[in-house]
Amino acid sequence: MSELPSFELIRAASVSDVAAARRGHLDCRLLAGGTDLIANLRRGIGGPTALVDITGLPGMRDIAAEPDGIRIGAGVTLARLIEDPLIRCRFPALADAAATVAGPAHRTSATIGGNLCLDTRCVFYNESEWWRKSNEFCLKHRGTVCHVAPTGNRCHAAYSGDIAPVLLVLGASVELAGDGGTRWIALDELFREDGAAHLALGADEVLLSVRLPVEPGLLAGYEKARFRGAIDFPLAGVAVSLRQADGMLTVLRIALTGTNSRPLLVSDCEALIGRPLDASALRQIDRLVQKQAAPMRTTIIPAHYRRRVASALACRLAARLFAEA
Ligand SMILES: Cc1cc2nc3c(=O)[nH]c(=O)nc-3n(C[C@H](O)[C@H](O)[C@H](O)COP(=O)(O)OP(=O)(O)OC[C@H]3O[C@@H](n4cnc5c(N)ncnc54)[C@H](O)[C@@H]3O)c2cc1C
Ligand code: SF4
Repeated sequence: MSELPSFELIRAASVSDVAAARRGHLDCRLLAGGTDLIANLRRGIGGPTALVDITGLPGMRDIAAEPDGIRIGAGVTLARLIEDPLIRCRFPALADAAATVAGPAHRTSATIGGNLCLDTRCVFYNESEWWRKSNEFCLKHRGTVCHVAPTGNRCHAAYSGDIAPVLLVLGASVELAGDGGTRWIALDELFREDGAAHLALGADEVLLSVRLPVEPGLLAGYEKARFRGAIDFPLAGVAVSLRQADGMLTVLRIALTGTNSRPLLVSDCEALIGRPLDASALRQIDRLVQKQAAPMRTTIIPAHYRRRVASALACRLAARLFAEA
């Protein structure tokens, strides 16, 4: 890691402060907990003239019960998510997923918004400046070729946030604020399959909050495989939510992280609705996950292993939740 480059720190107290900062510093970056952004700046990835601290925006640090769900400010820390009684009671899978992110010290400042907006990762990218320079950089930053897929024209860096899959299977939506006002979108619409531009967030927008609906009877869980058990990003992470009635599935959602350039809500799970979660259904889950997970050579662990781990975790988690439901 290199020295942190010089920049101006602007503390925004309102969305219009963020807009003004962006007008004054076209290359500025939004700063939440800084646990990912600062590390990347110290690797020489980007050198903004200003960082805009958004954790003081109104409502950013609030967790509020709503009649049909819960609203979580984007600046709520992961440490607080783990401890909060409302989250633990209504969405324990979210607290459990937060507890798998990084280490305890990171989680005291890391935020849920920063986790959702986390940059994608690759062994050719999350490296020091001199290392990347000696490889002539890469397509994602300052280079022309992707070392993972040299004949292609897009970046395959992997989205590796632990929180998004759980929020996806819980049906979350997110509140975005920008020059045109505020809008809500389904969380799934925030992401796209492009490692160099994986967020469908307007250049003028900031993520303000996350809303989770309460779905009675829905059980959810999250499991991840990682290289080091203590502190590490997921090589593959899987969230599942399901509900059953009379031994038949009435809801089944599966989401992945660490395998694609976006957190992926696995499609075609509806085909299993109305069926028991028996051996044949588990084989179908295995096929769906293996087909849609698209890991590339972006980590030191082989891609085919990560694909198989993703499907094994999905089957194991679905079977456990079905037995508990
Ligand atoms: C050693 C180490 C281990 C880690 N392990 C894990 C892990 O296991 N799992 C995991 O998921 N993460 C891991 N991380 C990454 C990081 O700590 C977490 O993802 C954390 O939640 C990021 O949140 P933050 O508030 O610190 O984000 P920041 O670093 O402040 O921001 C991250 C990115 O999101 C943008 N951003 C932040 N908030 C907003 C917002 N409200 N609106 C729009 N854009 C925004 C920033 O501009 C930046 O581009 C690890 C980091 C380290 C250093
Ligand atoms: S996937 Fe390719 S372009 Fe993207 S960070 Fe890795 S080497 Fe660079």
